[in-house]
Amino acid sequence: MSIDKKGLLIIDYTNDFVDENGSLTLGKPAQQCEDKILSLANQYLKNGDYVFLPTDIHNQEDNLHPEHGLFPIHNQKKTWGRDFFGELKNWYQENKDNKLVIMIDKTRYSSFAGTNLDILLRERNIKELCLTGVATDICLLHTAIDAYNLNYQLEFYEDAMSGFSKENEIFAKNHFKTTLNAKIN
Ligand code: ZN
Repeated sequence: MSIDKKGLLIIDYTNDFVDENGSLTLGKPAQQCEDKILSLANQYLKNGDYVFLPTDIHNQEDNLHPEHGLFPIHNQKKTWGRDFFGELKNWYQENKDNKLVIMIDKTRYSSFAGTNLDILLRERNIKELCLTGVATDICLLHTAIDAYNLNYQLEFYEDAMSGFSKENEIFAKNHFKTTLNAKIN
């Protein structure tokens, strides 16, 4: 394998984080990312590139988890809250058997923490990652820092990510650009 491939990461784009009725929702600004995320996903598949969906999975009973007591319970296994938001749910159903589409269960902010994401990326010769989804200032930020430390090149789209507050979002984007050498489209 010699041709470098690209990886799109769609992070935590689930009902609990995005839908009006989600338990930890970011609301409208997150909902408005739906079209851009879907168009990027289709574009990646068309080009023969990969789409990863690192998605939180939590268990209310797990009081050893660092998020326990810090956030309302979210993304519990086999609940509506953990389903992908809006059209992404249908998109995933239609494309989940495609070898270019890989969903990953994660239990921490970073998509790399405790997952085999780095191994999957290395196997596929992927050096460039585009991070989308939510939240810009938590899971995207922690994933971006880990990716940077593992020598991945980073790219973002303004209209394909959303954060918990304007201030945090400004900080995170600035950090992506000036500290993690990311390209922001
Ligand atoms: Zn979580």
